[in-house]
Amino acid sequence: MQLAVLPNEQHRPENLAVKPAVPADAHKHRDLVTGEFWRRIPAYKDVTEAQFLDHLWQAKNSIIKVEKLLATLQGLVSEAFIKDVEEGFARAPMAVRVSPYMLSIMNWDDPYNDAMRRQFIPTGSTILPDHPKLGLDSLGEQADSPVPGLTHRYYDKALFLALDTCPVYCRFCTRSYAVGPDSEEVEKVQLKANPERWRQVFEYVASRPELEDIVISGGDAWNLRADQIRTIGDTLLAIPHVRRMRFATKGPAVMPQKLLTDDAWFREFVHVVTSARKMGKDVVLHTHFNHPNEITDITRRAMDRLFSEGVMVRNQSVLQRNVNDSPEVMTMLLRRLAFVNVHPYYVYQHDLVKGTEELRTTVHTALQLEKHVRGSTAGFNTPLFLVDAPGGGGKRDAHSYEYYDRTTGISVYTAPSVKPGMYFCYFDPIDLLPEEGRRRWADPAEHKKMVDEALEKAAAGPR
Ligand SMILES: *Cc1c(COP(=O)(O)O)cnc(C)c1O
Ligand code: SF4
Repeated sequence: MQLAVLPNEQHRPENLAVKPAVPADAHKHRDLVTGEFWRRIPAYKDVTEAQFLDHLWQAKNSIIKVEKLLATLQGLVSEAFIKDVEEGFARAPMAVRVSPYMLSIMNWDDPYNDAMRRQFIPTGSTILPDHPKLGLDSLGEQADSPVPGLTHRYYDKALFLALDTCPVYCRFCTRSYAVGPDSEEVEKVQLKANPERWRQVFEYVASRPELEDIVISGGDAWNLRADQIRTIGDTLLAIPHVRRMRFATKGPAVMPQKLLTDDAWFREFVHVVTSARKMGKDVVLHTHFNHPNEITDITRRAMDRLFSEGVMVRNQSVLQRNVNDSPEVMTMLLRRLAFVNVHPYYVYQHDLVKGTEELRTTVHTALQLEKHVRGSTAGFNTPLFLVDAPGGGGKRDAHSYEYYDRTTGISVYTAPSVKPGMYFCYFDPIDLLPEEGRRRWADPAEHKKMVDEALEKAAAGPR
């Protein structure tokens, strides 16, 4: 076994040989799904391409009732699976909204293993107990909000939650405390698209000269009307110290049709980007693809339309178990994103969210993935793997923990420029811990001890 490449060996002539040819199937990331794939769903078998590309048709036919979803699945999946989904929704604290596009790219021949199904449609049989350290609003966004719906946690940037609806509702959503209608399990905080609330947000931003960068999110900017995009864009751009803005939306991943057929929305968005550029300011789109199958030829056409207008698009993914936690899937996702001119920006460790323990994975998994990914493609298309520290510590490089105990699954982070002097813990899902860790979490008397141990070791400094 060769243990190390020494400098003089690097220059041996035989090592200068060109790389061997790659196998013919090595470029699967360039093969995007085309054709009328939605017609496989019985409910969409007569839907034409013109209809399917119409964003209004997509919005109108999005499924917002469990009964409707179950009816649409009839004939596609087994009765047992349908029962399982029914039970999943009865136990999940989330609202239902799935676009026909999303439903059409799910693999109904193998629904238990399909990565897209797992992200939107819960099954009762796979739900795991929540982690004992879970709390709603696990990121502490409300505590950092000077006015409702504006989180000012970091020095020069703020997060504006402009509305509380989305084109779809994702199981893993961090903002399940605010997003979507109330479900049986949780009563949400109200963050409607309300001009009076927005006025307070704009006033706050104008009053804080350090704020140069505003993230416009929600909910989801996809659900803002064209005139609202314009209002928010023009108002914030008129504040001299605001230099950068990002509109955050899952839209390109779940309803790319809007970029192709909602001309009013597209025009106003491009107007904001273009007028910003003339002022020497930067407005971009941040989106959220999690799996390579979410990128079809419809996505490519949508992204091409943005690219041709010079719009920069960056991607933030959520790392999810059996969705995108293997090096193969993650590498394919990054290559495919790059292929449609979307820059991978972040991959987030899944936050502690009610009813989603089966989707979370360990910090160790994130660290392993990062190792595989780095070096596989351009650095600017290589995402950072992040832990958004529960309790308001903010985004931390997953590698930068002060201490990580793989037995208890506790990792400890600090954030000197966000919350100096404080420690923040992330908790791996218990079912993935070694036996000893699972045993300790089974005993409530051990919980505080485990956290104290981890904090003590973190405070003791580098191992
Ligand atoms: C994520 C986030 C931002 C933006 O952070 P970046 O690392 O610059 O992408 C700003 N404010 C809050 C509260 C956030 O959660
Ligand atoms: S689209 Fe974004 S904000 Fe809306 S539910 Fe999904 S993750 Fe949450």
